[in-house]
Amino acid sequence: MAEKDPKYYIDGLRSGNRRILAKTITLIESKHPSHRQLGRNIVDAILSETGKAVRLGITGVPGVGKSTFIESFGMMLVEQGHKVAVLAVDPSSSRSGGSVMADKTRMEKLSVATNAFIRPSPSGGTLGGVARMTRETLLVCEAAGFDIIIVETVGVGQSETTVASMVDFFLVLMLAGAGDELQGIKKGVLELADAVAINKADGDNIEKAEKARQSYEIALHLLNPATPTWTPPVLACSALTLAGIDKLWATIRDHRKKMSDSGELEQNRRRQALAWMWSRIEDGLKQRFADNPMVKLRIRGVEASVERGELSPTVGAESLLFLLDNNS
Ligand code: GDP
Repeated sequence: MAEKDPKYYIDGLRSGNRRILAKTITLIESKHPSHRQLGRNIVDAILSETGKAVRLGITGVPGVGKSTFIESFGMMLVEQGHKVAVLAVDPSSSRSGGSVMADKTRMEKLSVATNAFIRPSPSGGTLGGVARMTRETLLVCEAAGFDIIIVETVGVGQSETTVASMVDFFLVLMLAGAGDELQGIKKGVLELADAVAINKADGDNIEKAEKARQSYEIALHLLNPATPTWTPPVLACSALTLAGIDKLWATIRDHRKKMSDSGELEQNRRRQALAWMWSRIEDGLKQRFADNPMVKLRIRGVEASVERGELSPTVGAESLLFLLDNNS
């Protein structure tokens, strides 16, 4: 059957067939091992055709204007002739409720634009699972000819760090007038930012946004930049009136040029690929451990002994790990 043949998908992706792109992502997100394996084979086969897109991460608390921003920004890019894919990482989304992230209903125009593709967050449970699927989806979107990939996330757990580790440019959206604690800004998020944009800089809010922009600029300058090549700027924009949106795009392109000229773009991607491999190894080892029949048999007893203080955590861990050595 054609649909079991990787070639069916690979050819479909190469020709930019959206239906086949969607089917490939369904394989990647499948719980069925043989579908997943097929998905992996496809990703492996198209790997050399990936890497050309601008990979952009966007974060910000709910209400900051992420979907409005992506809708405006994405439409601007599509009108310039780009092909834009929007993905999401939201480990809290559940299958039943569907994802609140990158929801098509929240991006009315972009969701029907010919050169845009919107995919909600996979509901994979753990952040690791969601991240794996999103990374693979990003690659197949690139193979299908999308030249700008936007990965959206909210600050759930470590999701910002995860998204930052799969993109070239990480944008943090903020609001004026709300304290950092109100915005749920966790320590470290600003350190991930390649740019900060104060959104909703329109109407009565313009002045406040400019003030916030200046204070974030000071805060950002106090941090050590990750590279001498790039000092993360703070901009003001309005996803509603589009003010500042084109400047933000110019900033992203400027960053790309500088990082590309210095060789850091490639370097970062190589580092990201290695880090990804290691995180897969960690996940795989944990899975093997959990699936091991001897471990399954003993784990509750060892846990109980550690809890009661009869066994030290170190000895408990070693006795379980030892079972793995004798069983694989
Ligand atoms: P998200 O939860 O981060 O995706 O935020 P939304 O895009 O859903 O926006 C939340 C609310 O803010 C909506 O009512 C938007 O219309 C509004 N909004 C988004 N961007 C702007 C903006 O630039 N200016 C103004 N005034 N409102 C905005």
